[in-house]
Amino acid sequence: MTNTTYDLGHLSVLISGAGVAGPALALNLLRYGARVTVVEKAPELRGGGFAVDFRGHVHREVLTGMGIWDEIHARQTHMGRQIVVAADGSPKVDLPSEMMSGDVEILRGDLAHIMYERTRDRVEYVFDDSIATLTDTPHGVDITFDRGPARRFDLVIGADGLHSRTRSLVFGDESRHLRFLDHYVAGFDAPNGLGLHRTGRLYSEPGRAIALGNYGGDPDRVVALLVFRSERLSYDRQDVAAQKRILAERFAGTGWEGPHVLKALEAADDLYFDAIAQIHVDRLTEGRVALLGDAGYGATMGGMGTGVAIVGAYVLAGELALAGGDHRTAFAAYESRIRGFAKGCQKTAGNAGPFFAPPTERRIRGRDRMYRLLASRPMAAFFKRITEKSATNIRLPEYPA
Ligand SMILES: Cc1cc2nc3c(=O)[nH]c(=O)nc-3n(C[C@H](O)[C@H](O)[C@H](O)COP(=O)(O)OP(=O)(O)OC[C@H]3O[C@@H](n4cnc5c(N)ncnc54)[C@H](O)[C@@H]3O)c2cc1C
Repeated sequence: MTNTTYDLGHLSVLISGAGVAGPALALNLLRYGARVTVVEKAPELRGGGFAVDFRGHVHREVLTGMGIWDEIHARQTHMGRQIVVAADGSPKVDLPSEMMSGDVEILRGDLAHIMYERTRDRVEYVFDDSIATLTDTPHGVDITFDRGPARRFDLVIGADGLHSRTRSLVFGDESRHLRFLDHYVAGFDAPNGLGLHRTGRLYSEPGRAIALGNYGGDPDRVVALLVFRSERLSYDRQDVAAQKRILAERFAGTGWEGPHVLKALEAADDLYFDAIAQIHVDRLTEGRVALLGDAGYGATMGGMGTGVAIVGAYVLAGELALAGGDHRTAFAAYESRIRGFAKGCQKTAGNAGPFFAPPTERRIRGRDRMYRLLASRPMAAFFKRITEKSATNIRLPEYPA
């Protein structure tokens, strides 16, 4: 076969969502010359979020293939150990960095930026808009947008996160696919009152937890992560003030840095707030539409959602290239390669909420005992092997370079 076989110049692809999965797919598709449009409902690329990590040879191979392995290293957090603390700040358990931060760790916002910067000149990014309706026809997908004019694309990829509109439009209502895991998570930027440098602290009370981490960068700021156990809440996802009120209520009276964190929350302009939840769909593709990343197999914290999304983007683009743009062949291969891999990562993530915020004092003590053991040298290596196992449980074919 000659290289021209892999040329996707004839293919127009609309990606919904410029989180992590969307720009990752755009970057991979550009390698084969596809014409890519990304529509993102936020007015600009969304920064923020906690650190995300990569582990094992599959992530390395994919990020190297995408040409961003070195840049990720250049901007890695170099996070040291993280410490579970008591209410007075005294240390209870040391969590070594190889356990918490994988082989290389980077802030989610920095990762999104790297991929956006590498694609923005050759990809059409449309911010502040969203798919409104989608009609799959034998010759393409007819799209109307909330704001922009109607257009037709050869393929549409839903990379619009846990609450994907693409998924709702094509695969059915969210209630059929979203599995709520009894917790919520919030993340935002806060002052570094503890003077942390490349280290983090985790404080848990029954059913709620605060983690603070400084990842290098600005010495005066930390990322604050709040986790709480809860029944399913009904709130407007666009209403940030309402989300802040929920958090203020749930964290009222929290010890340790609680009062300072709540004050920082009032001022936060980058709040991320969502259910700890997973997405389970019967199939990832339908006609000319496919789901990618959290939209198709969201795993939540601890499930390497970012790593799976990046591998998914690499595989989807690679299969399209191998199939010369024939979406039927490519989608079937994508589905069969990614499904089992993503399921394995989802399994490792089921316990994220109770890890941060065990429901009782007894369970908190039990977690601390277990992690004290896991953090010991031989067990830390074992723990690393276990997490790497799901991150490497996929065989990647050789995609055209
Ligand atoms: C701002 C932000 C902060 C995050 N912080 C954390 C964190 O602290 N911890 C954690 O575990 N996970 C966090 N996540 C989720 C994490 O990024 C994903 O689990 C993972 O990286 C997979 O990425 P994704 O691109 O599939 O989904 P996401 O990163 O969620 O990206 C989805 C993108 O689609 C956009 N979008 C949504 N609906 C539409 C629509 N109708 N039309 C067009 N665009 C749409 C969203 O604005 C977003 O940019 C965060 C996500 C965001 C957006």
